[in-house]
Amino acid sequence: MKFAVISKGDAISNECMYKIRTYLTDFRLTYDEDEPDIVISVGGDGTLLYAFHRYRSRLEQTAFVGVHTGHLGFYADWVPDEIEKLVIAIAKTPYQIVEYPLLEVTIRYVRGGREAKYLALNECTVKSVSGTLVMDVEIRGDLFETFRGDGLCISTPSGSTAYNKALGGAILHPSLEAIQVAEMASINNRVFRTIGSPLILPAHHTCMLKPVNDVDFQITIDHLSLLHKDVKSIQCRVADEKIRFARFRPFPFWKRVRESFIQ
Ligand code: NAD
Repeated sequence: MKFAVISKGDAISNECMYKIRTYLTDFRLTYDEDEPDIVISVGGDGTLLYAFHRYRSRLEQTAFVGVHTGHLGFYADWVPDEIEKLVIAIAKTPYQIVEYPLLEVTIRYVRGGREAKYLALNECTVKSVSGTLVMDVEIRGDLFETFRGDGLCISTPSGSTAYNKALGGAILHPSLEAIQVAEMASINNRVFRTIGSPLILPAHHTCMLKPVNDVDFQITIDHLSLLHKDVKSIQCRVADEKIRFARFRPFPFWKRVRESFIQ
């Protein structure tokens, strides 16, 4: 089996990374940064987001596992003290794979029929570069509303505990193949009206955002933020691809939610 280790880059994470690399090599696993079967991310959720985007082109062949060197992460649930246990589990036991849905974002541009496709593990956010964001929101090809406000956040089920939660969105179990559209400070008065509640769309429903005036937007895909100019539309739907996590022990989603936010 081939493996790769990605570190957040701080001293503790780097030390863990070297340990994992040495131990797994001792177990005769091959270190292969280009085509790993398993990727161990050491740091936090941000490190796993980075690892996901680094290996985005080979999601079908790669499983991810996360070690957190700070507070408990949603994607990183092993601690540095458990590294020996984790290494033995990787080297010696056939692991279970758990798949989580992803968000596919297709941005189409005004000129030349150009388009760019992205995959998000957490979410895509859309904000105006200057002033209020004004977007027509279409669901399954029909105009649903004209949104006016700070921005929109379209998240995956596993991303529902991240930015989406801060916006008052619901927490979705990652076994649900769905995406969630949450508002950021919408303008609601006698003239302008939005639904005001987060929307949860199933896999066969597409959400299309179409600019009303402005065509330049600040768009984030997970931790990546880019200015997109001359945007014609932003299409969001549940992706065909999934992320695969290597599971060596049960850690139920609701337990993780409770331990992260309540306990
Ligand atoms: P960061 O360093 O600012 O970390 C943001 C926090 O989000 C960290 O505590 C991280 O553990 C947590 N987080 C990430 N994914 C999560 C998930 N799926 N469930 C629960 N918590 C999660 O930024 P980063 O590490 O580069 O992560 C980028 C993410 O930050 C974005 O995908 C977005 O979800 C999140 N974010 C949140 C807010 C907010 O809550 N207001 C604002 C901006 C970005």
